[in-house]
Amino acid sequence: LFSAVAMAPRDPILGLNEQYAADTNPQKVNLGVGVYFDDNGKLPLLQCVQAAEKALMDTPTARGYLPIDGIAAYDNAVKALVFGADAEPVTSGRVATVQALGGTGGLKIGADFLKKLNPDAKVLISDPSWENHRALFTNAGFTVETYAYYDAAKRGVNFDGMLDSLNAAAPGTIVVLHACCHNPTGYDITPAQWDQVVAAVKAKALVPFLDMAYQGFGHGIQEDGAAIQKFVAAGLTFFVSTSFSKSFSLYGERVGALSVLCQDKEEAARVLSQLKITIRTNYSNPPTHGGAVVAKVLNTPALRQQWEEELGAMRVRIKEMRQALVDGLKAAGVQQDMSFMTQQIGMFSYSGLNKDQMLRLRSEFGVYGTDTGRICVAALNRQNVGYVCQAIAKVMQG
Ligand code: PMP
Repeated sequence: LFSAVAMAPRDPILGLNEQYAADTNPQKVNLGVGVYFDDNGKLPLLQCVQAAEKALMDTPTARGYLPIDGIAAYDNAVKALVFGADAEPVTSGRVATVQALGGTGGLKIGADFLKKLNPDAKVLISDPSWENHRALFTNAGFTVETYAYYDAAKRGVNFDGMLDSLNAAAPGTIVVLHACCHNPTGYDITPAQWDQVVAAVKAKALVPFLDMAYQGFGHGIQEDGAAIQKFVAAGLTFFVSTSFSKSFSLYGERVGALSVLCQDKEEAARVLSQLKITIRTNYSNPPTHGGAVVAKVLNTPALRQQWEEELGAMRVRIKEMRQALVDGLKAAGVQQDMSFMTQQIGMFSYSGLNKDQMLRLRSEFGVYGTDTGRICVAALNRQNVGYVCQAIAKVMQG
């Protein structure tokens, strides 16, 4: 039966992790994975999460099946976070939200639902994008192409190219947009550019799918959701996937969601019924723990306040590391202006280093980033940033 099964290629990021684990260099630094580490290089367990878990343990509950669409209090908290608690889409009941297995799960439920709804649509993702966007929509049965995004020479977004790509797309094309903190480049478009994207999406009748994996990591919770507000204001219907992996440091609990903004309440009920079928036939219903923790935090004012503070501290620390990187590279003798690293936002930086330089960083210095030059700034800390700067400076100087 399995004799014809081909060996699949290793996941590039996980492959990098294995290589890192096997590296005996005592100074090795892993900047490959998209994970936030604290200043001690540890994966944080947020205080708000610990407090919520304690509170949940105070009244232990049996673990029955959750509803197919998850915990109602969780879904409502997600709606409030994404659209605003008192915002019209929420108060009018025209958002269908389901708890999902991380942001990936939200994307997958949306992709499967879209495939049934509009099987011949193409999907456009940014060039470049998070690796899994292409794989996920391809596996859902779509043809996936790209819209222009990164301009290596300019070190920024090729915005004219992006608009041209959107304007050339056929009506009904699904466009996957990074709501904030673009992965992998770290370059977001400006609010004024979002206005133009929204206008193009509307004029060309495209289907927006906003991937929000880093809300709160860029400028703030509300600020990072600003693109959503623009799509709402334009009267569009669209998809939003949410991930709490990073913002709650709950990677392994698989907490995320899919929200679909519909035209009215009745439409949202029909959409929700279809999302539930997609879930039911994949994994039946979501797990209890992560959703319960996040719902507890978001719905308890004191814990919510604590979460906002802890998320804010992560955001500020990443920005400090960006500055430390720029300063450290200068101090290490890099002549080139590296200040673009502080203009980037979120967890990642496209460093501009080429594949050869990235390979040298790994083999000579034990500093691991992706071949594309992406480094995770959120894995830097005050102990390792100096060493990383020295290493980068050496490979930049030839
Ligand atoms: N979208 C993007 C852009 C991401 O970077 C990630 C996580 N690396 C995800 C979605 C998936 O998030 P999760 O781990 O919650 O599935």
